[in-house]
Amino acid sequence: MTKATHNGTCQCCGDTFAVNAKTGRLAKHGYRVMWNQEVGQCPGAYELPLEVDCSIAKRILADLHKAEAEYVALGGEDPRTAEKVHVGYWHSGREKYKRSSLLLMETRQGIKWLQEIVNNWTPSALLKRVGGAA
Ligand SMILES: [Zn+2]
Repeated sequence: MTKATHNGTCQCCGDTFAVNAKTGRLAKHGYRVMWNQEVGQCPGAYELPLEVDCSIAKRILADLHKAEAEYVALGGEDPRTAEKVHVGYWHSGREKYKRSSLLLMETRQGIKWLQEIVNNWTPSALLKRVGGAA
């Protein structure tokens, strides 16, 4: 097994992880262990890091715009909206009930964050791992 020498930024969660020296793709991440089994996974795992590609960030941005429209349709513009929407969290596999107004706010924050990344994206060098071989 080749030891990873560099880290890259995940296009989905924004965290940094080891990059496979052979494939150039990010390590598995975003799961948690439940009853000795791994549950859930970040959609950015096994994908190219943000330093070399931003196509997944663009796709997620489009999905967020779709979600924004859905939450507006659910009455999310009104913070008093009592309607709760069922959300499956892909990061954790957890299911939760949340107010549509809160989801709309979170979605718009995500859009703002990703839009800036996509607008300013240029290829850049991967980050050298501390203690990694040259
Ligand atoms: Zn990730």
